[in-house]
This record gives sequence, structure tokens and C-alpha cells, in this order.
Amino acid sequence: MDCLFCKIVAGSIPAQKVFEDERALAIADINPQAPVHLLILPRRHIASLAHLSLDDEALLGHMHAVARELAAQKGLENGFRTVMNTGPDGGQTVNHLHLHLLGGRAMHWPPG
Ligand code: AMP
Ligand code: ZN
Repeated sequence: MDCLFCKIVAGSIPAQKVFEDERALAIADINPQAPVHLLILPRRHIASLAHLSLDDEALLGHMHAVARELAAQKGLENGFRTVMNTGPDGGQTVNHLHLHLLGGRAMHWPPG
């Protein structure tokens, strides 16, 4: 499958891995938008939140638990932002489900 994040999961494209387990991995974003900008992605290809089945709800919870763990590891005691962009209107550019973890600066709202 021609999917960038599947290739990163398979190891055929390099990435700066910061966490991995049997269900997910976390990598540093190549174009960071904050001092801490990590991406948590499932090993299994799921195109987006719009493609998630009810059976995947535990996986979604796991991705958030990983984000919480990494936020603690990175010392984001003052808070952080988790974002999942979905589809063209959501600003999704890589069609493999991923959760952004951003921190280390104050975020703005609305996000634009
Ligand atoms: P999104 O726009 O929500 O789909 O997020 C995709 C994210 O993947 C962007 O923040 C990109 O900077 C990031 N990205 C693209 N290619 C790579 C790569 N090879 N390694 C790490 N992050 C990447
Ligand atoms: Zn994929």
C-alpha cells in the first residue's frame, strides 16, 4: 500500500521513533509546529477517524493514553493539545490515522 505512515511502521522510511508497542507507535513530526510535536499512529492502516469502526474504540483510547504518557515524559505539566485532523476540510494531509500531540508553548483558539 502506498501509505507514508505504513512505510514508517514497516521501517522502510526512517522516522524518529519515541515510543512503540504492539498497537501503536509515536514519532517526531518532521515539520514541528510547537517545541514538542509528536504523532501517535496505529500500526494497522486506518485512513482516518471517518473510517474507524466501533471495534476500534479501544485503539482510539490507547492512542490517547500513549499521548498522556508522552506528555508526562516530555514535562508538559502546563498542558498540551491533542488534535486529529480528518479529511480535506479537517486539514488531513496524511491518510493514515494519527493523533498530534503538541506542547511546550501556549496554543491559540480558534485554531483556524
Ligand atoms: P495531518 O496534516 O493532520 O495529516 O498531519 C500530517 C503530519 O505528518 C504533518 O504535521 C506533517 O508535518 C507530518 N509528516 C509528514 N511526513 C512526515 C514524515 N516523513 N515523518 C514525520 N512526520 C511527517
Ligand atoms: Zn497507512
